[in-house]
Amino acid sequence: MQSKNLPEMDTLERTLNLGAPHLDVNVVRRIGVADSPSSVTLPIYSICLGNPSPNVPAMGFFGGVHGLERIGSDVVIAFLHSLVMRLQWDTTLHHQLESMRLVFMPIVNPGGMWMGTRANPHGVDLMRNAPIDATDKVPRLVGGQRISSGLPWYRGQEGAAMEPENQALCEVVKAELLPRRFSMALDCHSGFGVRDRLWFPYAHTRQPITHLAEMQALKDTFLQTYNHHAYVFEPQSLQYLAHADVWDHLYIHACTQVDRTFLPLTLEMGSWLWIKKNLRQMFSLRGIFNPLIEHRQHRVLRRHLSLLDFLARATCSHARWTPTEFSRTTLHANAMQAWYA
Ligand SMILES: [Zn+2]
Repeated sequence: MQSKNLPEMDTLERTLNLGAPHLDVNVVRRIGVADSPSSVTLPIYSICLGNPSPNVPAMGFFGGVHGLERIGSDVVIAFLHSLVMRLQWDTTLHHQLESMRLVFMPIVNPGGMWMGTRANPHGVDLMRNAPIDATDKVPRLVGGQRISSGLPWYRGQEGAAMEPENQALCEVVKAELLPRRFSMALDCHSGFGVRDRLWFPYAHTRQPITHLAEMQALKDTFLQTYNHHAYVFEPQSLQYLAHADVWDHLYIHACTQVDRTFLPLTLEMGSWLWIKKNLRQMFSLRGIFNPLIEHRQHRVLRRHLSLLDFLARATCSHARWTPTEFSRTTLHANAMQAWYA
């Protein structure tokens, strides 16, 4: 029944069936789709695997926050699928999962994806919906607006609770990631632009985050390991500022526990890359945010799987690359020079 509007949900559910013995699957919320003739409700799944102990680190993968950006869900589901297949034969993966937890929310906004909109079914942009205002000036509209749900980047009504999709996201992050001494998150989007970008907070201010040295160490470790990578690693504030970013909100919440480290990243896949090579995509909303030609889609999925695998391993091995007492000052200084000079 979901196939026509939501093939990603079918692919995800097939993967969950394949991996059933190894996966803790929960439906965190169900989202009604009002404009559908048969009034469908769609699940927001969270999927966990690996060691559930709060004493081990955790890595979370998120996708489909913006309903138009299907390729983000596709990347997360493709990685989950490869893990499920590897669990059948890969001893090293079983060893890795003994000392860490993996958390997946591949389709955070199933209603928006069903309807083919960036926003959720209430017209709210989930990345402009957290209870946090920018402290520096944001671009008009794009930075978040309360004028109308008929315009993009709508924040929702002032003082209202977060949308159910964001409540689900925050519940899963607070239950599965933040109680641990070390956790990371990757939220997969496809934006405009030519380059693939990895953003870290903040979006609401140009000030650096507390864990700037950790972000520099993560970037250095990734660059040294994958020296042919194509990612631009930077704070989101270098591109544009915005109100109400849910990862800013969760990062600030995480920082209230001083002995915890939570490093959230957003992957913005450079969708102009696809359009440059296929002008037909200019005329299709699906095409602007997602590669149209199947071989291109395979290439996009392949390219990012090594990033997702790297982040899982880096989480497992965080004690080997996170700043020491001695390296912290230099890492922080390098980061300030690169990003905040
Ligand atoms: Zn997005």
